[in-house]
Amino acid sequence: MPSAPHYQALEPQTSDDDEDIENCKVPALVSTPCGGAATPAAMTMPPRWSRPRPVSSVSSRRRCWLPVICVVGFFLVFFYFTLNSENRFTLGLGNANLDDSEDAVYGAHNGLDSTNSHAINESLHICSESHEDRRVYMQDKPRNAYAQLPVIYFVTPTYPRREQIPELTRLAHTLLHVPHIHWLVANDHERCDTFIDILLNRFGIPFTHMASPMPSKFRGSKPAPRGVANRRAVLQWIRQNNLTNGILYFGDDDNTYDLRLFDEIRPTQRVSMFPVGLIADYAVSGPVVRQGKVVAFLDSWIAGRRWPVDMAGFAVNLNYMSQYPNVNMPYKPGYEEDLFLRSINLHIDQIEPRGNNCTEILVWHTQTKNKKAPVVRLEAKYMDGRSNLGALFRALKVMGVASASDNEGPIALISKNGKEKSHSLILS
Ligand code: UDP
Ligand code: MN
Repeated sequence: MPSAPHYQALEPQTSDDDEDIENCKVPALVSTPCGGAATPAAMTMPPRWSRPRPVSSVSSRRRCWLPVICVVGFFLVFFYFTLNSENRFTLGLGNANLDDSEDAVYGAHNGLDSTNSHAINESLHICSESHEDRRVYMQDKPRNAYAQLPVIYFVTPTYPRREQIPELTRLAHTLLHVPHIHWLVANDHERCDTFIDILLNRFGIPFTHMASPMPSKFRGSKPAPRGVANRRAVLQWIRQNNLTNGILYFGDDDNTYDLRLFDEIRPTQRVSMFPVGLIADYAVSGPVVRQGKVVAFLDSWIAGRRWPVDMAGFAVNLNYMSQYPNVNMPYKPGYEEDLFLRSINLHIDQIEPRGNNCTEILVWHTQTKNKKAPVVRLEAKYMDGRSNLGALFRALKVMGVASASDNEGPIALISKNGKEKSHSLILS
């Protein structure tokens, strides 16, 4: 989640009530001059609409035209909306014209720049996949004890950096305890990483590993849309596989997940929500709950978001999501959660609070310190079988953690009996 004052805030959103009034405007304008009952919207019209005029033959002739104008106007408005709503349903994922439909979905929300939103038509490449669950026991029960549970599709965007393999290893060790899960690991990389294939295979958790690089035009942007291409690729994969059963959860590679989270999100009917710890200035972000219902949100960065929640703070039922063919996550840093939840037409009264009415933290927005992979000067001639160091550094290089060089970086020091020595003295 961004904690970023440098993000440009959107205009504050209209509330549900405001929106109802907005939606009423067209019928009110049409019906009032035609003699319909004055609606609240009509009563707030500018004075020139209601200014009394002298009664004359000219004005009474005008009055005769009024019904005709009203009828024609009504049909024009009717056809406009009919055509628009048809567009919504014919433009789906991967359609080159989706920008139009995004306007249809997001158009009501001020300040959204439709040039920032794109069709979900990602370059998506499946690297490897396993549908087999090789785990025998999970949380003191055999695998088949969980056979009736809905599957949790756990979506992990990840990207190459020296912390990537440790993050995925740690996360795998959490997911190993979670029954009936399919792990979608979407790597922000041009090519398939064989090391990740081997790593994921070892755990025995059903998984799909895909290469889903961020489009190059966003790479240099600040802030960059982190993990968005990956999540969009997964949304496309779900669509392509026609998945309408199970629970979708976006779980970044660096967060910390309490095992109780998975029990909480599995019965999600539409969208469930819960607080996320360690978010931004309040060290927490999540729903405000009164009498068992979500009524508002607590977050230190609202910025006009209707749904100011973290990516890890909600889960979605795929059956519910499948009713919204324009599901999307535009490349709008800071607004990914908000726009995604808007695209599935979420209503506040539908949200299912979890974690004992949002009083518990079941997921933490932990962040790992990011450092550049170092180059260590360790001559190639010493990278042979006379010690472990050759194999060790080759492994570190494959994992993107560190590399050895003949002439770059600090010399690899080795010590013996507390005395530092150059590696050449020990290895030669
Ligand atoms: N990520 C990515 N590409 C990037 C940067 C991040 O795929 O260029 C992934 C990252 O592995 C993580 C998610 O996107 O799963 C969110 O990124 P990060 O944790 O760095 O962001 P923050 O937690 O600070 O919002
Ligand atoms: Mn993170």
